Amino acid sequence: MYYNSDTIIYYNGEFVKATEATTNLYGQSLHYGYAVFEGIKSYKTDNGTRIFKAQEHYDRLRRSAEMMYIPFEYTTEELTALTYQLLERNGLSDAYIRPLVFCSPNMSLSRGKESYLAIEAWGWSNGYLSGKQRVMTSSFERPNPKAFRIEAKASGHYVNSILACEEARHKGYDEALLLDAKGYVAESSGANVFFEKDGTLYTPSLGSILPGITRATVIEMCKELDIPVVEKFFTPDEMRGADAAFFCGTAAEVIALESLDDIPFTKDWDSSLCAIIQKGYSNLVVGKNLEEFKLQLR
Ligand code: PMP
Repeated sequence: MYYNSDTIIYYNGEFVKATEATTNLYGQSLHYGYAVFEGIKSYKTDNGTRIFKAQEHYDRLRRSAEMMYIPFEYTTEELTALTYQLLERNGLSDAYIRPLVFCSPNMSLSRGKESYLAIEAWGWSNGYLSGKQRVMTSSFERPNPKAFRIEAKASGHYVNSILACEEARHKGYDEALLLDAKGYVAESSGANVFFEKDGTLYTPSLGSILPGITRATVIEMCKELDIPVVEKFFTPDEMRGADAAFFCGTAAEVIALESLDDIPFTKDWDSSLCAIIQKGYSNLVVGKNLEEFKLQLR
């Protein structure tokens, strides 16, 4: 469950009980998916509770609102401070944080006139996301970037994710890999993708994907760890049977793939570069710097 009778959320200027917050049913957000949101995580670290990449997430939330013509006045600093207060009020440390910006009552197809902010948070420990994912190439493409502002984290885009995810689960897979309109690999329903071949990591170029904050973090980590990383467009053919692969995102962190369309990745995970990234990332989120981690690697 996401909340109980004690849970507090931030809702439009005040902290209120989740059970007492209400909304209006005559709005574009509910009817048309016209809203923007973020998925953020906080971790228990040696220096107390820390929100990982708070600035990047709240900058993206503000950019998403702007791209969608949704008026939104909060600064990144205000949003971050409110989120720390929210965590404290709920006694949360390892948590998933979900800010949602949605619009005031208005059923027309015109831009949002006023927005409301809700920030919700719930406890999260990552144990159940470990393991390896069996992935299928989805029959659903990512939304066409000429039809949507695909770099925005907009609620309506996730209808596509639900369709792809359901198809994959129905066919007995754990996750879907979606292609873009040209048949190049894009991303999963809610994470970016990397694969490893002959000592190099590859990830799709920007264009038809959400520019993930974890993806950017992984690219930075590769540079610090001297792991070659290439952003390019590639087909699922190039990826099938590669050495190793992972999905990455705030929620999933770095999660290993077992196979793509039943063709296994060939390298032993523990001896792959992907595994180094996975371990490095789990150090980073709890505030350990990569220098310490590099020493461990030797
Ligand atoms: N792609 C999609 C479609 C997503 O929903 C997410 C999760 N926000 C990601 C990629 C990864 O983004 P991030 O690393 O910023 O969480």
